[in-house]
Amino acid sequence: MKRLAAIVTGMIVLALSLHASQEPPPGRTQAPSTDGKLNIIAFGAHPDDCDIRAGGIAAKYAALGHRVRFVAVTSGDAGHQTEGGGALAARRRAEAQESGRRLGVDYVVLDNHDGELTPSLKPREEIIRQIRLWKADLVLAPRPNDYHPDHRYTGVLVQDAAYMVVVPNLAPDTPALRKNPVFMYFQDGFQRPNPFTPDVAVSIDDVIDKKIDALDAHVSQMYEWLPWVAGTLAKVPKDAAARKSWLKDQRGGQPNAAVRAALVKWYGPEKGNAVRYAEAFEICEYGTRPDDAMIRKLFPFFGGPT
Ligand SMILES: [Zn+2]
Repeated sequence: MKRLAAIVTGMIVLALSLHASQEPPPGRTQAPSTDGKLNIIAFGAHPDDCDIRAGGIAAKYAALGHRVRFVAVTSGDAGHQTEGGGALAARRRAEAQESGRRLGVDYVVLDNHDGELTPSLKPREEIIRQIRLWKADLVLAPRPNDYHPDHRYTGVLVQDAAYMVVVPNLAPDTPALRKNPVFMYFQDGFQRPNPFTPDVAVSIDDVIDKKIDALDAHVSQMYEWLPWVAGTLAKVPKDAAARKSWLKDQRGGQPNAAVRAALVKWYGPEKGNAVRYAEAFEICEYGTRPDDAMIRKLFPFFGGPT
């Protein structure tokens, strides 16, 4: 019996050390939900994508005590005109951490190369683990018809994870969810094969300066790389305050007609028509499909019954 126990103990130690030799998934930094608070996770291809599409609602969730994690699926190590590789990845990781700090959210940057993301098993499993670890109620991601291959494949990868998060034999080192989250897409302007449908639109008027402050943390992108690509580098103000107001003009996110209609639906005509800045989301057909009552629970921002 003793010998058998020793063998079993040895096997357990071996199994643990084998597991430890693999790179562990980034763990939780905030406790999972047992208190009625929501767990929101958003996936962007690069450090700054989630901030651009959902920085406003993230700040609103955080202000209400809900937990938000942003995940950049690549390190962003190709996103600069004069810098690159590990040094740029480190710079962007630090920018993401600062943005997360300003918003009050958790920020994880996965170690996949920028510009090289493919819809393959490794990043799919990383995404499955992230959704499970966060015990997500709501998952946000790009639509899979974006211009940038990393954005597009982030959309595909999250769709590929949308069922597998409840399948215990997939990525079995991270316990499967028993309840499939709601999956939604970020807003974009692409028309083919179908335009973005704003099923939900949220006013971010009360947090617009906080959102811009978070984007301002991504110095390498907002003031260097993106203006360089657009040929507007010379227009970026040097002074810090002028830079931020320039950024607000660029990235404020004023509602288009479809988003305005969604704002009116959720806030009523008086409030909905008065909104200046908004973020909108489309329901993905995979995962749990929410009705209006569930949307009011997941987006506790509209007033009225929740
Ligand atoms: Zn991006």
